[in-house]
Amino acid sequence: MKITFLGTGGGRFSTISQRRMTGGFRIDNLNGINLHVDPGPGALVRTYQFGLDPRNLSGVFISHAHTDHYTDAEVLIEAMTRGMTKENGVIIGSESVFNGFKDWGPCISNYHKSKSENVVLKPGDVKKLPKFSIKGTKTIHGDPTGVGFQIRTKNINISYTTDTQYFDDLASYHEGADIFISSVIRPGSQSIRGHLCSDSFIKLLKEIKPKLAIMTHFGLKMLSDNPVVEAKKISDASGVKTLAAFDGMALDVNFRRPDKSVISSLKDENSFLYRREKQNTYQSSLRAHENDELTIGKSKFDKGTTIKKDFTLSKR
Ligand SMILES: [Zn+2]
Repeated sequence: MKITFLGTGGGRFSTISQRRMTGGFRIDNLNGINLHVDPGPGALVRTYQFGLDPRNLSGVFISHAHTDHYTDAEVLIEAMTRGMTKENGVIIGSESVFNGFKDWGPCISNYHKSKSENVVLKPGDVKKLPKFSIKGTKTIHGDPTGVGFQIRTKNINISYTTDTQYFDDLASYHEGADIFISSVIRPGSQSIRGHLCSDSFIKLLKEIKPKLAIMTHFGLKMLSDNPVVEAKKISDASGVKTLAAFDGMALDVNFRRPDKSVISSLKDENSFLYRREKQNTYQSSLRAHENDELTIGKSKFDKGTTIKKDFTLSKR
């Protein structure tokens, strides 16, 4: 089993700026099937970027009707169903995702719902699917129907809080988690309504005691601090090995010892190698005159283009 993070940014401003990517994550070879979780903006592109194929999905999970969790869902459903020509796969999500709830959703058209099994998941519900069972876990967040999960297989239990604030019985929904994945949007004690910060996450880890915790869905404040340093503090304070996910992180899951799972891929952006690689950007190649004939700003198409501030239709 492999868990791949196709984006570790979260919240409106991380998403709009793409300081971190927002493609959610994939669980591959979950008893032989592949599941995409919370495909936010860029999920399709990140899937290919990190060497995966959306056409071999058997399931898409969408926790709630916020853009950073659902935007690419429909196009992944098209991939899963061979462009809507074949019945295939399962779509699992909150009430709002399928049917809309007050101001939230729906996020998937009737057309895109039509070729896959639809599972509306509510907190506490357990759905038995052919390859695994999934329990809905409660959230307290903007979308009142938002739902996380605990996936149970014979080998391992994987829990995912999605976006939620801390509340008293949150831990009880995730009891028995071997790997615990959570949206931790802010560092330290900087709590914000509807979300976890590091301090409330520590409290939760002490209650649940998973074998491995992975935090993701970082907001700008978390990113300005260093999530890796934050994860280390959380490990020390909670006694639970905690990783701060990075974009493209793929984890080969060790069923017997989840805390010994191996990060199998790509770039840890805090590593020396990645920083050096990052210097090799478009800007650095411009400085080195590697692409003189393509130099930005000399395009004839750009002439006369101005960006007006505060442009509104009423000012026309
Ligand atoms: Zn949200």
